[in-house]
Amino acid sequence: MSFATSALSRIRLAAVSGRTRLLSTPWNRLPYSGGAATFGAIPSVIHSAAAKEEPNRDSTTVTSTSTDPSTDHKDKKRRMSSSSTSAIIASASAILTTASIASSSSPTDTRHFSTMPPVAQEPHHSKVVIIGSGPAGHTAAVYLARANLKPVMFEGMMANGFAPGGQLTTTTDVENYPGFPEGIMGGEMMDKFREQSIRFGTVIHTETIGKVDLTSQPFKLWREGQEGSEHPTDTANSVIIATGASAKRMNLPGEETYWQAGISACAVCDGAVPIFRNKPLAVVGGGDSAAEEAVYLTKYASHVYVLVRRDKLRASKVMANRLLSHPKVTVLFNTVPVEAKGDGKLLKSLVLQDTVTKETRTMDANGLFYAIGHIPATSLFKGQLDLDEDGYIKTIPGSTLTNIPGVFAAGDVQDKRYRQAVTSAGTGCMAALDSERWLEEHYPDQH
Ligand SMILES: Cc1cc2nc3c(=O)[nH]c(=O)nc-3n(C[C@H](O)[C@H](O)[C@H](O)COP(=O)(O)OP(=O)(O)OC[C@H]3O[C@@H](n4cnc5c(N)ncnc54)[C@H](O)[C@@H]3O)c2cc1C
Repeated sequence: MSFATSALSRIRLAAVSGRTRLLSTPWNRLPYSGGAATFGAIPSVIHSAAAKEEPNRDSTTVTSTSTDPSTDHKDKKRRMSSSSTSAIIASASAILTTASIASSSSPTDTRHFSTMPPVAQEPHHSKVVIIGSGPAGHTAAVYLARANLKPVMFEGMMANGFAPGGQLTTTTDVENYPGFPEGIMGGEMMDKFREQSIRFGTVIHTETIGKVDLTSQPFKLWREGQEGSEHPTDTANSVIIATGASAKRMNLPGEETYWQAGISACAVCDGAVPIFRNKPLAVVGGGDSAAEEAVYLTKYASHVYVLVRRDKLRASKVMANRLLSHPKVTVLFNTVPVEAKGDGKLLKSLVLQDTVTKETRTMDANGLFYAIGHIPATSLFKGQLDLDEDGYIKTIPGSTLTNIPGVFAAGDVQDKRYRQAVTSAGTGCMAALDSERWLEEHYPDQH
């Protein structure tokens, strides 16, 4: 991937970092390059979208409660045409204070802005709901929609810190997804995923699911902002969870400037880019992932330094031996990075601290790769679905089946090993087929 970070990705990344809530261009990417929309008023909490109010199946709905009734009216069924883009997200809990969405004239993306009362009257029932909008969610949507199951997707409103489209909206070139020999910008790729979902009739709501009850059929879902209501906003016979994960970061001084401009959380995704070739690189972490990433990076780097906070590796013996015996790897124990420095465009060096003596020193490094773990977006499902010790949804090996019949999990939310777009898409396909089969068996008359 090219680390020539564009203004667009910068803004997206700023949004993801959680520090900057001003999204100018990418909010468009929110629903990406589809239709354009401008929220006329200052909408307050994003509420439920009522698909039944807006039955156009080739559409996306965003429902808001506006403080200005005149704009509510104007917003209703607005066809986006503006080319300006700006949005301010006031909080990670998806309270939208001001937003405008920029545009293109894609006929497939007609977004609707309608007003709903704060509490839904009747839940909207679907055969299958998809929560999440990364490669896993969209692949599931394409398969389910083509099977005529009329899937409804909640793509999230900065859910888990990501714009709709997921993690790939925070990166520039994706070079390892088959079918794009020249590579493709992450946001553009997710635009295409979304267009394809819509093309076959997926209804997409730009909202976050804030609460679920998976204990009985039909499954109950509450859109963010309506969790306090006794009645769910939505019900479904089957649910596909594709809420993804996020890499743990250190939030070092300089990290925001050099994120994706030298700092990364994925060696397999980013290691091959030219800025890392024959350059000293650093990996933070002492587990198996750190060891794997460091060894992988030796193909490109002049040397790889592994920064380990403690005085020993957590990695398995085999991986630790591989690492320690590699001629291009040096493991620096009791060492943590405390600052990332560069020329304003690219990372050039790291300030390291000895965790015992607290002494600091500067080391040349053109890359810093975090391998300190990921956080799966599963807080919503705790206590209902079986999760592993790291919070990932447990699925029956070789399938996307969870411990609850009718609930399936796909993508990074259930995969701590591969964490790639193509593997997420692959499990999204599996979840759709598993869900379809399950619906056929349990709701044959509705099929
Ligand atoms: C910077 C970066 C670069 C990468 N580069 C590459 C690469 O080059 N090649 C590659 O193969 N992989 C790459 N990856 C990894 C790849 O992005 C992930 O493996 C993939 O996106 C996972 O897809 P997913 O569908 O599981 O979920 P995600 O992409 O994580 O998407 C999940 C979506 O679900 C939404 N969501 C979460 N909770 C809710 C909720 N409660 N309600 C509604 N929506 C919700 C989130 O907002 C998000 O939009 C990269 C990752 C990062 C961070």
